[in-house]
Amino acid sequence: MPAQSFQGQCHCGAIRARLDASKPAAELEARACRCSFCMRHGAMTVSDPAGHATFDIERAALTHYQFETRTGTTLICARCGVYAGVILEDAGKRWSAINVRGLAVPEFKGRHAAPVVFEGESPSARIARRKRQWTPTEIMYR
Ligand SMILES: [Zn+2]
Repeated sequence: MPAQSFQGQCHCGAIRARLDASKPAAELEARACRCSFCMRHGAMTVSDPAGHATFDIERAALTHYQFETRTGTTLICARCGVYAGVILEDAGKRWSAINVRGLAVPEFKGRHAAPVVFEGESPSARIARRKRQWTPTEIMYR
């Protein structure tokens, strides 16, 4: 199975992301997290633990937001307001789930996202789940 590469960017283009996935878009789970933050953004997130993600970010346009357990950091464009994805950093490594709706990744347009609820998860369980489910990630600034 050839690798598949999916790309998107925020509304103004300051935050770009690429997911080099291990399988086609149709075989990747698209999740609609039911937390209060993702609900407000209408986010649909995708990750692939066997893939690799790259964010290419204009540093001046990036803002971060942390809430609840503060185990993840959301990446938000300070210029156009798009929620681009969420990052977990631990021991010098990064994992992410990208918001394919916010970044308008064409391969996921019109996809029905599966609702997921992670409420009540302990911080350590949350971190362990993200390491299992999310994509190893690199962030480049320009
Ligand atoms: Zn933007």
